[in-house]
Amino acid sequence: MDSEGLTNFSEALMAGSLTDDQLIAQTGRPSLVNIIPDANVVKIGGQSLIDRGRSAVFPLIDEIVANLPRHKMIIGTGAGTRARHAYSVGLDLKMPTGVLSVLGTFVSMQNARMIHYLLAKHGVPFIEPAQFAQLPLYLEERRAVVFFGMPPYTFWHQNPAVGRIPPHRTDTGVYLVSEVFGTRSMIFVKDERGLFTADPKKDRHARFIPKITVAELEAMDLQDVVVERAVLELMKAAENCRSIYIINGLEPGNLTRALNGEHVGTIITAD
Ligand code: ADP
Ligand code: MG
Repeated sequence: MDSEGLTNFSEALMAGSLTDDQLIAQTGRPSLVNIIPDANVVKIGGQSLIDRGRSAVFPLIDEIVANLPRHKMIIGTGAGTRARHAYSVGLDLKMPTGVLSVLGTFVSMQNARMIHYLLAKHGVPFIEPAQFAQLPLYLEERRAVVFFGMPPYTFWHQNPAVGRIPPHRTDTGVYLVSEVFGTRSMIFVKDERGLFTADPKKDRHARFIPKITVAELEAMDLQDVVVERAVLELMKAAENCRSIYIINGLEPGNLTRALNGEHVGTIITAD
């Protein structure tokens, strides 16, 4: 948009209505800035990784440390089994979705604290949402940060279409960080090779899917998937983060390969 374009557009926007479809369509015209294009967002699963304790976590920490010289990492944590317990007690006590979201936030924060303390001797800080303004400095200085994956909606959280569990949890929170900052990659570290035609823990005949689009995945209408469905929904309108990796973090070397841009696990793309 040249400066004359800017003038015309800002006049239209200032005088216009933000519910006018035609006007709103124009706001998508300028291409986006990639704020932190050289960093990678890495999500460490709660139930799939951290809840398994040291046998799963320590090798992954070693691999993160080994990659610090080569790769900047924004590391988000899942919540996992303790959040599911908190949700079940909260539901029994008649708590609304927004309160369940608060509970899940604290569990993913517990996990972020522990991952952070394991990385602390390498100078890696834990950051809360208010500290994201310092993210570029921390990445430049220390190469990585740890944050809790829950998006900070807390009790402003929208209700799900079905049931009461907050639909935007830690997969969604880390994904949105990747989308907003225009990072180099979005890697979900879990405990399965990637996406299968069914949950491989429940179906021995589930087939592995190395690469798939969101539209193809929707058409398959799977009973369960490996990432929160909200992530797939958000990918459809994504401007930056149009592909995600799902890898098995229980196999040493996978994170390194994914950080190096190799195709390990499943890649889900928006197009
Ligand atoms: P996180 O710990 O990151 O929150 P989850 O446990 O929520 O991860 O999700 C990962 C799990 O999803 C896997 O361990 C797997 O058992 C399950 N899963 C369900 N459906 C599928 C599927 N279609 N393909 C692969 N994994 C699936
Ligand atoms: Mg999960």
